[in-house]
This record gives sequence, structure tokens and C-alpha cells, in this order.
Amino acid sequence: MNTNKKVVIIGAGISTHIFLNEVKNRNLNYDIIVLEKKSYQEIIDEYDDVPFYFNKEIISLNVDFEKIVVKMRIYDNNILYDHGTDELSEKYSEKILGRKSGNTIKFLEKNKNAFVIRDNDKIGRKMLLQNILIERNKDNNFLYDTEVKLINLKDKVITLENGNIVNYDILISTIPLNYLMNLTENKIIDLFYKPFNIIKIYGLEDIDYKVAYCTDANIRINRIARLGNTIFIESPNKLSLSEMNAEENKFIDMFINKDNLKKYKNKTSQIFPGRFSQLNNNDYQKVENFFLKYNVFLLGRMATWKFKLVEDVLEDSRKILNILEINDD
Ligand SMILES: Cc1cc2nc3c(=O)[nH]c(=O)nc-3n(C[C@H](O)[C@H](O)[C@H](O)COP(=O)(O)OP(=O)(O)OC[C@H]3O[C@@H](n4cnc5c(N)ncnc54)[C@H](O)[C@@H]3O)c2cc1C
Repeated sequence: MNTNKKVVIIGAGISTHIFLNEVKNRNLNYDIIVLEKKSYQEIIDEYDDVPFYFNKEIISLNVDFEKIVVKMRIYDNNILYDHGTDELSEKYSEKILGRKSGNTIKFLEKNKNAFVIRDNDKIGRKMLLQNILIERNKDNNFLYDTEVKLINLKDKVITLENGNIVNYDILISTIPLNYLMNLTENKIIDLFYKPFNIIKIYGLEDIDYKVAYCTDANIRINRIARLGNTIFIESPNKLSLSEMNAEENKFIDMFINKDNLKKYKNKTSQIFPGRFSQLNNNDYQKVENFFLKYNVFLLGRMATWKFKLVEDVLEDSRKILNILEINDD
């Protein structure tokens, strides 16, 4: 299919690549431009190579999947529980968001089969998938080092940081929703999030995905996750392993065999967009409808302010493409 419509996507992260992969699978020939504020090098430098799993194998991604077990636990008052409760879930929410949430952490009670990507001897990290898709989607028009500064929704015109102008018929935003609202000068709804830091420890391959969420206020760690050869320690503070208190060390000990510590290769600390309080369906509908009026689609976890996994992003990409295809007919 051919169309004259010009589609502009803001952001060159995994959501955009999932979308472009679907465009390719459908043999669509849209004129697509991707605007990304980071450089190509920054994108592939794996700045957020987080543990990544799928609830099902996704055939259309055409990559190798491997079955794993996801073990989610909650650590409260020095005890590790296999099952979360609503009360513990809210206690965790109070700790990480500073307020009750009701909807953000609903995944405490899982011990389930899941799938990760395998690429040679590596498993389970986000950048394994993203790098495959970057290679596959490279024929698209990616403009790196290109930051969007303003969006005029009425005229469908984007102003870039360098002053250049980009016109579009359809806009897909993968950037955090608060950024989009700022760029369009619309404060449709209040959004809430807190930044967090991650310590990464590269060590020995482990096929299970183990996660523990910690409710104790005096432990400055929100959660610890182990997948593949990497252990992720997530904290609202910038911490290093050497400055942990006794209780923190006890929590970490459940994941790291200190005798093996010298075998671990690397440590880094990074800041991610953070923890956020999801939008309820009504508020989301309000936001989505507002942008839809101007041919703007939201795609991805932070773009929709909802806890989307990659499989949800694929579904959302399909919905967007279905709408675009219907409008083309
Ligand atoms: C510890 C951890 C574990 C996770 N586990 C999973 C998991 O198992 N499964 C799963 O599906 N998800 C998981 N996630 C979530 C997943 O990592 C994110 O949802 C996903 O990376 C978001 O990708 P995205 O493409 O939507 O957004 P991003 O990667 O944030 O892409 C948006 C892009 O927009 C660019 N940008 C921003 N502003 C502008 C601007 N003004 N102009 C131009 N460009 C701009 C940014 O530079 C960025 O590259 C996990 C996250 C964490 C932190």
C-alpha cells in the first residue's frame, strides 16, 4: 500500500522500533520520519539495557525466544514473601511514590513462565531486541540529534531546537506524556512520577528472572532484579554497593553471592525516567481523545503513562496502523 501521508514519530526507542517492524511486516510504504534528540551512538550505547521479559512469544518479531521462570517476591520487615497483598502493595507504593497508588504495583504475586530473547550467549535484556530492530528498521528516515521544541497541534507543525520546521499529517509520540503536554502547551491532566537510580552488576548468567520489591523504609532500595548476567538494584538515591547499611546488605545478599563478587565485571549507576502513578482509564481516555482530535497517537509506557509491556506496545501499534489503513481507503 502507498499513501501520501507523512508520519512523524518522536523518539527512537523500543516502542518506535516495534511500530516500524509492524509497518514492515504489513508492507506499508508510509513516508515516516523519526525525530530523536539523542545521537545514534547514545541510543546504541545501551544506556537502559534493562531486564526484559514477555508473557508470550511474539512470532511477528521474528527473534529467538527462550522460556524462563519469573519469580517475584516482596520483602517486608526482613522477611521475603512469595505472595504480595493489597496492603503490602500499598506500602510499597507509599515507599516509592510517597503516596498510595491503587494501580501501579499489581504484579507482586507472580511466579510464572515467561519468555526472553536469546541472542547467542546473551538473554533477556532490552537492548538485545532493540539492536536487532535498529538494524532491521534502518531504511527508515531517522534524524538523530534532533530535539523537538514545540508542536503546533492545529497547524500540524513541529519546531526543532535548531529552528527548523517539520510538517506532518500523523504524529506518533513515544516521549513521556508530561514532555508532550509541555511541547504542545497543554496541561490536560496532572501526572506524577519520581526519578530513580540503578546500580548494574554484570556477573554470571542466570536463566531465572528473580525480582524482589522492598517495602522497608530504612532500606534505600526499591527493588532488586536479576536476569541474564545482570543484577539491577533500583533506588531513589544514588548509592554504591560499598556504602550499604547492614539491612540493605542483608536484602542484597539474597541475590548476590558475595564470595563471587570478584567475578562480577562491572558496575554502573544510571537514572531512568522513574516510577510513575498510572493514569486511570477515564483520565487516559480524556488525554487520548484530546490528542486524537489532532491526529496525534500515543505509543509506549511513558507516552501513555500506563504500565505497558512491549506486547502491549505491539497491540497499540497494530491499532494505530488499522486506523491509518482505514483512513487511507
Ligand atoms: C528496570 C526496568 C525493567 C523493565 N522491564 C520491562 C519488561 O520486562 N518488559 C517491557 O516491555 N518493558 C519493561 N520495562 C519498560 C521499558 O524499558 C520501557 O517501557 C521502554 O524502554 C520505553 O521505551 P519507549 O520507546 O516507549 O520510550 P523511550 O525509550 O523513553 O524513547 C523515547 C525517546 O524519545 C526521545 N525524546 C524525548 N524527548 C524528545 C524530544 N523533545 N525530541 C526528540 N526526541 C525526544 C528520548 O531521547 C528517547 O530516546 C522496564 C523498565 C525498567 C526501568
